[in-house]
Amino acid sequence: MADRKCSIIVSVYNEEAVIEQFYKTLTEIVAKLNYEVEILFVNDGSCDNSRRLLDGFAAADKRVKALHFARNFGHEAAMIAGVDNANGDVMICMDADLQNPPQLLGQMLEKYAEGNDIITMVREGRADGGLYKRITSSLFYKAINHLSDTQLKPNASDFFLISKRVADVLRNNYRERTRFLRGFIQIVGFRSTTMSYYAPKRAAGESKYSFMKLAHFAFNSLVSFSKAPLKLGIYSGLIFSLLSISLIIFSLVMWIVDRPVSGYTTIIIFLSAFAGVLLIVVGIIGYYIGFILDEVKGRPIYIIESINTQNK
Ligand code: UDP
Ligand code: MG
Repeated sequence: MADRKCSIIVSVYNEEAVIEQFYKTLTEIVAKLNYEVEILFVNDGSCDNSRRLLDGFAAADKRVKALHFARNFGHEAAMIAGVDNANGDVMICMDADLQNPPQLLGQMLEKYAEGNDIITMVREGRADGGLYKRITSSLFYKAINHLSDTQLKPNASDFFLISKRVADVLRNNYRERTRFLRGFIQIVGFRSTTMSYYAPKRAAGESKYSFMKLAHFAFNSLVSFSKAPLKLGIYSGLIFSLLSISLIIFSLVMWIVDRPVSGYTTIIIFLSAFAGVLLIVVGIIGYYIGFILDEVKGRPIYIIESINTQNK
């Protein structure tokens, strides 16, 4: 199988603390693989020493390609840039912090050789983050599965393998500005399978995802996969219509029996509840319009500043 080429795509954002250890571990492992290997580091606008380190790897190792973004575009953009620029028959996306164990690459490629086009790596345990990360991640998958027509595997990760033909689908047909790549690979079809793994602690350095960044990512992914929040307007409209009909009937009856309701409290409660729900619904619609605007503007998903490799 050595005539087959495997591209390993690694997103790197300020990983100077861990990248050398990662590269060393990775190269030891890929040396044993029966594939020609290309290692594609996507430097997502790091402002630390990562760039220099990656250029060093590329200068010394002809399998390495260092792709530098013009600024930080985010992990998803880095992965899609990797897929766009990889020229393997099969490609594997992974993080640079050794939380996606390179030791599993061999098994993943075996499953690919058995005829699978997609291998989703499902995290069955994690050494970092503890209860908080576990709960938020499980809530996220519950929400997305409840609200969208597709069913995503809980704890799917950004560690996955795809064949060239799946990569071609991502390259040509999934160019949305708001992306959720690990979701996309679960809805494109093809023969796919999963493997579970245990995510160890970050080998060094710090997580790049703050709570706010994660919440933002979760909400964007939800919008990318579901139109259900837009229905809130219809449901709350129905509830308020029913409520107002009852109030009208009640007020009319009281008027007929000559005991008109003194309405201040009713009006205030009704109006403020109505205004609250209305504004939330408008906000949700606004959020979706924002996404449409992003699509219409058609700005690039990422901008490459330079590519450093010995193979021009
Ligand atoms: N990453 C990236 N761009 C970003 C944030 C993160 O390319 O804006 C990379 C980061 O270098 C790492 C991977 O994405 O290789 C996962 O990030 P991290 O380990 O910080 O996330 P966590 O594992 O804590 O969810
Ligand atoms: Mg990590």
